[in-house]
Amino acid sequence: MERHQENIANEAPVRKLGEVLLGLSMITSERLKYAQALEHQTGKRLCDILVEHRLVTAEDMAAAISVQLNMPLIDLKRHMIQPDALKLIPQETARKYNLIPLYIIGDSLIVVMSDPEDLLAIEEAKSQSKMWVQVALGIPSDINRAIDANYKPSAEIEKRILDKSLPLLSLPQLGFSADALKKYQAMLKSPYGMILVGGPAGSGKTTTLYASINELNRKERNIMTIEDPVEYCFADVKQTQVNPKAGLTFSNGLRALLRHDPDVVLVGEIRDKETAAMAVQACLTGHLVLSSIHANDAIGALFRLIDLGIEPYLIASTLVGVVAQRMVRRICTRCRVPYQPSAMEKAVYLDEIEHLPIIFYKGEGCNLCTDTSYGGRTGIFELLVMSENIGKMLTGNASYDDIRAQAIKEGMATLKRDGMLKVKEGITTIDEVVQAALTPGATISFFEGEVANGQRWDVIL
Ligand SMILES: [Zn+2]
Repeated sequence: MERHQENIANEAPVRKLGEVLLGLSMITSERLKYAQALEHQTGKRLCDILVEHRLVTAEDMAAAISVQLNMPLIDLKRHMIQPDALKLIPQETARKYNLIPLYIIGDSLIVVMSDPEDLLAIEEAKSQSKMWVQVALGIPSDINRAIDANYKPSAEIEKRILDKSLPLLSLPQLGFSADALKKYQAMLKSPYGMILVGGPAGSGKTTTLYASINELNRKERNIMTIEDPVEYCFADVKQTQVNPKAGLTFSNGLRALLRHDPDVVLVGEIRDKETAAMAVQACLTGHLVLSSIHANDAIGALFRLIDLGIEPYLIASTLVGVVAQRMVRRICTRCRVPYQPSAMEKAVYLDEIEHLPIIFYKGEGCNLCTDTSYGGRTGIFELLVMSENIGKMLTGNASYDDIRAQAIKEGMATLKRDGMLKVKEGITTIDEVVQAALTPGATISFFEGEVANGQRWDVIL
């Protein structure tokens, strides 16, 4: 035994394996000699020859190698492959080297390999997963089965995502005004801090987040995501889908991503205290975090963060800005006609815009829009750029109304104002904007219903 250890570095591994097999009485010396002769003739590895010629079973061989290398032998039939571990190694690599990632433990990825001495494979697993790799031994046929069973459903899920994927729009296509677009693009240039997209469900937040990722320089900035679900696949961004059943949540997913030290992290949504705290922590340690938050408007997003347990001074020091948004329908371009709005509509419009436009438009209904008078949608946006003043007000427990007034003073166009500017441009109607921008606490309220003049809604000023 002493001699064996002494010579471990010089001794050819094949001889060691033979000794181990003999020591474990897994083979007779005659059969071993026969296999070694074949080894010299063919140049194949001894372990492969022994298994191919059925001189040793694959299970015995794995057990012998495990003894030889003093390495754990993993029975893959008894282990579940962790989905987030699987995502770190592409199927191609797994097949090429007959290996499969098993678990993430701390900073390490446990990789089960049929040939744990394949240093090239280990290097590739390290560079692809960007983690420390700890090698364990597996039976080759088990690894193959595990690759088939685990990567196949993954590929199907990805295909499903692609089939259903959102169209990837550029920021200018979303409907930002020229001023808001310029400000938002400047926000995206921040090296660190938090940018939030606020709005209710269905307001197009994810589309804006994806357009933002698309705007970022992905060659210079390493971007990672944790999403629920992944709705668009970027070729050059590492995206992860939360999987609460497997214990992968926004907060622990974000913690795991941060170990890779990305420059930018997209967190699909901040909806609990843990995720909010983790996102703020990420900003404080120099990351740019993009996320969405359920809030009616930009100022509402600040108060939502406070509700989620974030101290106002931390919001003041980490938040770069908030985009609040809604979707409105566009007037059908084929049946668009000028019309005279009612006095009520004009009043709502004038509440936001100082000058009457020359012409108001609406759709008459046609074949193209199946008589809906609308075709396609666009966003309306409210952009809050975090300023020193607003930070101070927030830290000093100023009210929603006071902070909102200050933001407007600093140039924030409200959702309603941005919407009415799109009315002015003949893109959408007053009706659409009022319905979309309706929020509790807004300066107007309305009730829906048929009234005598045929308007679908009425306004109470
Ligand atoms: Zn039409």
